[in-house]
Amino acid sequence: YLRNVLRLGAGKTVTLFNGRDGEFSATIQTLDRKSAILRIDQQTRSQKAEPDFWVLFPLLKKDAVDFLIEKATELGAAKFIPVLTQRTNAKNVNLERLHRHAIEAAEQTERLTIPDIEAPQKLTDLLGKWAKDRLILTGDESHTSPPVREVLAASQPGAVLVGPEGGFTEQELALLKSKPFVKTVSLGPRVLRADTAALAMLTALQMVHGDWGSK
Ligand code: SAM
Repeated sequence: YLRNVLRLGAGKTVTLFNGRDGEFSATIQTLDRKSAILRIDQQTRSQKAEPDFWVLFPLLKKDAVDFLIEKATELGAAKFIPVLTQRTNAKNVNLERLHRHAIEAAEQTERLTIPDIEAPQKLTDLLGKWAKDRLILTGDESHTSPPVREVLAASQPGAVLVGPEGGFTEQELALLKSKPFVKTVSLGPRVLRADTAALAMLTALQMVHGDWGSK
C-alpha cells in the first residue's frame, strides 16, 4: 500500500497509530514488496478516550452494510455487531472486508482507533447475554414508542439497534420491549432504511451524549 498506492519510498514520512498509544510521525527506512522498516520520530497526538457507542445492525444487502460501516466509523462507532433476526435476508458477511472498510474510514476521519467488528449473533442470543448496564436505543417505526429526543434526554444509551429491511417481527419487538436495558424509540413519521435509521440514532447519541461538545 505504501509503495504501490501511496507511491512512497525511503526517506518519506508517514503517521502511525495503534489505537492505544496515540499518533507518531515516522520516516520510512526501507520499503520492499513484503516489508517496511520505519523509524518513529516523535509523538504527534496523544490517545484520548472516545465515546463507546456500539452499532447492532441486521445483515442487510452488501452495499447497505458497506455504507453503514463507513459512515458509522466516521461518526465514531466503537464496535459493530451484526445481528441475525427472523427477517434477516443475508446470512454471510465477510468480516475481513468490513474491517478493511472500517480502517479506511477511520484513516479518513483521522481518528486514532479502529472499531471492532464482531461475528454475527442471533438477536435472541445477544439479548440473553447482554451486559444490563449498557442501554440499547432501538428504532421502532410502529409509532408506539416515544420520540428519540425524549428518551435521550432521560437516559444515556451505549448502543443502537435497528431491524432488517422487513422490520422486526411482532415477537421480536415484544421481546425487545420486555428487556429493561432496551429503549425503543421513534425517529419520526417517515420509515427509514435500516442503515439510515442506525446512522440517525448514532448521530443523535453523539450529539447528546458523545464528543460533539468538544472542538
Ligand atoms: N416495517 C417496515 C417494513 O415493513 O419493511 C420497515 C422496516 S425499516 C426499513 C428497518 C428498521 O429501521 C426498522 O426495523 C427500525 O429499526 C428502523 N426504522 C426505520 N424507520 C424508523 C422510524 N421512523 N423510527 C424508528 N425506527 C425506524
